[in-house]
Amino acid sequence: MFAMLLAVSMSAPAHSQGRVAVVRDAEIETLLKDYAKPVLQAAGLKANRVEIVLVNDRSFNAFVDGQRIFMNTGALMAAEVPNEIIGVLAHEAGHLAGGHQQRMREQIAAARTMTIVGGLLGAGAIAAGSISGNSGSSRAGGALITAAPGLAQRNLLSYRRSEEMNADQAAARYLNATGQSMQGMLTTFERFSRSLSLAGVQVDQYQISHPLPRERIALLEELARKSRHFDARDPAHLIQRHNLARAKIAAYSGGAQAVARLFSDDRGSLAARYGDAIATDLSGSSAASLTKLDALIREQPKNPYFHEFRGEVLLKLRRNDEAVKAFRNAVALDPAKSPLIRARLGFALVTTGNPGNMGRAIDELRAAVQADPDNFNAYRTLSQAYGFAGDIANAELVMAEGNFRAGNTREAKVFAARALQKLPKGSPGAIRANDILTIGN
Ligand SMILES: [Zn+2]
Repeated sequence: MFAMLLAVSMSAPAHSQGRVAVVRDAEIETLLKDYAKPVLQAAGLKANRVEIVLVNDRSFNAFVDGQRIFMNTGALMAAEVPNEIIGVLAHEAGHLAGGHQQRMREQIAAARTMTIVGGLLGAGAIAAGSISGNSGSSRAGGALITAAPGLAQRNLLSYRRSEEMNADQAAARYLNATGQSMQGMLTTFERFSRSLSLAGVQVDQYQISHPLPRERIALLEELARKSRHFDARDPAHLIQRHNLARAKIAAYSGGAQAVARLFSDDRGSLAARYGDAIATDLSGSSAASLTKLDALIREQPKNPYFHEFRGEVLLKLRRNDEAVKAFRNAVALDPAKSPLIRARLGFALVTTGNPGNMGRAIDELRAAVQADPDNFNAYRTLSQAYGFAGDIANAELVMAEGNFRAGNTREAKVFAARALQKLPKGSPGAIRANDILTIGN
């Protein structure tokens, strides 16, 4: 019991106020979606209905709440190959498909929906120090933004043992059905059981939320032995994306040193150099970072996230027109059409202050908030774009909507009232403003 409490209190400031720090990043979110899609389909779940949420926490953990799978950044860092994370996602999909954790789901449904309050990369000091458990280079904020849903830590601990075994069996079925190995899952759970024996020091949240008795390991081994695809390997392109994502997390959580540690075997790899370029920017050397990014782009000109990060660096260097071009490239190359990148293109367009850019900015930002209504910063930037374009009524309506979505009901009503005075009577905007004004009264 003491060890459990210790583990909770050691488990990063993210949880210290009963909150989960959510981070947003187009590259990592898209990767996790790509990992999850086949196993979710095998589980009979609609992949686009299940949200995968990245949690800013160095410990190894993943959990579900009914429609969402939460994955810690620490789990990605620890996983040497995609298959280890895919195994965890398959297990969590087993929980979702099995309708487990009913009690926890009810608790969360009663709480307010998640609200993103942090800042996106380069958007200022809002996200400063957002990387948990880190002493060094977190001040840069960054691609990772913080959020504060009301999800109490204790809710995450209420997993039931029988549900764990069921989820393991389901995961084995999904992995087999998709021709993927169970090896990663086994590696992951064996790693837990080893660290568990280190008594106290390395106790990890995942062990608490996913109890791991000997019988469970035995079941996993038996399932793995029977698996026809045990020797299946992740495709090379997925391994590279995995390492690029880990490099980014390492750079944000521990700077250049963490990147060097993670890739000590292969310091010249693309991922190691990507992590180094990010860490270089975060340490304040944006011009040097740009040189490193340009070299990476010569090597992989179609990687949308290289262009995205280049856009962020250019914004810091106040080369706004070039930043717009970089984000345009990123949006054009991004197969997932991530609303996060579109929001950053919109932001870059707004920072130019050029009235001729505001139409495109409004289009990008409208698309971004439509796909991703939790992105409060995108609403704020959209409001600025309307302001630059001289459309004050819509600037205020957008702030009403953004605050409403973020749960800031009082602010939402103030903006809605102002918008209502300026919008044409009976227009869709006026009707929406009126709705926001009267909701909850
Ligand atoms: Zn579980």
